[in-house]
Amino acid sequence: MQFAIQPSPQPVVKVLGEQSFFPVRRIWCVGRNYAAHAREMGHDPDREPPFLFAKPADAVNEGGVLPFPPETTDLHHEVELVVAIGTGGRNIPAETALDHVFGYAVGFDMTRRDLQSQAKAAGRPWEFGKAFDQSCPISEIAPSSAIGHPSQGQIEATVNGKVQQTGDLSQMIWQVPEAIAYLSRFVTIAPGDLIMTGTPAGVSAVRPGDNLTGSCEGIGSISVMYAPA
Ligand code: MN
Repeated sequence: MQFAIQPSPQPVVKVLGEQSFFPVRRIWCVGRNYAAHAREMGHDPDREPPFLFAKPADAVNEGGVLPFPPETTDLHHEVELVVAIGTGGRNIPAETALDHVFGYAVGFDMTRRDLQSQAKAAGRPWEFGKAFDQSCPISEIAPSSAIGHPSQGQIEATVNGKVQQTGDLSQMIWQVPEAIAYLSRFVTIAPGDLIMTGTPAGVSAVRPGDNLTGSCEGIGSISVMYAPA
């Protein structure tokens, strides 16, 4: 195929222990998937079930030193288990959903909370709060062929060495098979899709110069430093 302009590079995530890369197609994010985080954001998890929103594929990055994003004074970290889809489908039953998983990573759904709050108040879409450049730092993907399908394990975020977020994968309202099944009712899932599965309680703001780490037991870790102002 001849392109009229130079195509942008394919966004990728490294695969742990291999020389290969996982090509990212779409990034779906589950909102309010841990009851304690739903409550800290002012919602009742019994009355408002999880839902999904998206980030652009090229928001992925491997952390390290990142520029502090523009137009925000309230940049929040949300540490999340990330599911990497290896084979696609529609209307996937929860019972066979894990067959579609290539592997798992830990990542951050970075959020310009001030812009998200403005959008919520105005009944507008969340993209400026959630879908900005480099808003998805993510660890290498650990293949499920090596680590299986973890349904429990500690997930944690620190800022400048202090633990801010802590939870356990077993606390997710929608477990991974249910999230895949639900999403695949509404859109076709395809190889290269990433699903961020929501964040435990304790989200807080990071500032220029801050060091952020995320980890998930048995899966991996990710470090970000926001460049000093
Ligand atoms: Mn999130």
